[in-house]
Amino acid sequence: MSTTSLIALGIATLVTFKLLFGLVVLSFLTGTFYFLFGKKKYELLKTQNGENGFAFSFRWNQAQEPARFDKVQIRLYNPFGQPTQMEVTKQFDPQGSDFAVDLDMGPGYKALLGSKDFDKGRVTLTISSSRDQIFHAFEMKATQFKSQLEDAKRTAKEFNEAYTEKPSRPIYATVSRSFISDPLPEADKKVLKIASNPIFAEMAESMAKSGDGATSGGGENFAASKVWIEPGCIVCNACEDIYPEVFDVQDETCVIRPGAPLDNGLRIQEAAEACPVEVIKFTKAG
Ligand code: SF4
Repeated sequence: MSTTSLIALGIATLVTFKLLFGLVVLSFLTGTFYFLFGKKKYELLKTQNGENGFAFSFRWNQAQEPARFDKVQIRLYNPFGQPTQMEVTKQFDPQGSDFAVDLDMGPGYKALLGSKDFDKGRVTLTISSSRDQIFHAFEMKATQFKSQLEDAKRTAKEFNEAYTEKPSRPIYATVSRSFISDPLPEADKKVLKIASNPIFAEMAESMAKSGDGATSGGGENFAASKVWIEPGCIVCNACEDIYPEVFDVQDETCVIRPGAPLDNGLRIQEAAEACPVEVIKFTKAG
């Protein structure tokens, strides 16, 4: 092979290597690697709940499996021991991303750990989602289970501080506006003139007649005595976008903020009318 061919081959190998290296780095940075190869993983943690306490963390590929886990079961199978089979199960608040919980499993858990010839058995740890019907089971020797418990260094609180995603959304969202009218002439405050946007002309006229600048179709404002959410909220966020001081959209439903101001009834009405499933209800004061 000539020298020129050797140099060309060398350059081609270098370019290919650089390209491959770049792809690997890129996939790490964009999460593609984790999406394709990310694995479920549990860790036994140090409990703060005494002898019936059991703490663990669970991480999984949430992009591939968007589940909400809410149950853990510890099962002992021990044909050489007494009893030969035992299990304890505990439900907890549904968790939709990497999480750790510290649970009081009740006296059955202590009995399971202290069962006769426990070390000869096998333990299955199952973490499951009741809603999504997904089960992740980890089987191991009872001695392994025990040593993982004994070696546990960090607590559920420490895990959550390190891994739980912090909400990026501010609690009080600002309502965005896409139209700004010219300021009203000082001498003629009661007459709204929005020459630049005729779409609003009718609304402006009725607001001018009613004499106030309230929103939602120009009706007279009022105070609400009570606002509540009926079952069926689909957490679409519409109400919070309209009136964040009153509506707080959480993971499963929307709630009314404690001590929320109820004096701007028109804005509450606006949110109720925007609710696609009509679950926002209110009564007028007086
Ligand atoms: S607008 Fe209705 S459905 Fe949407 S979050 Fe608010 S209460 Fe729930």
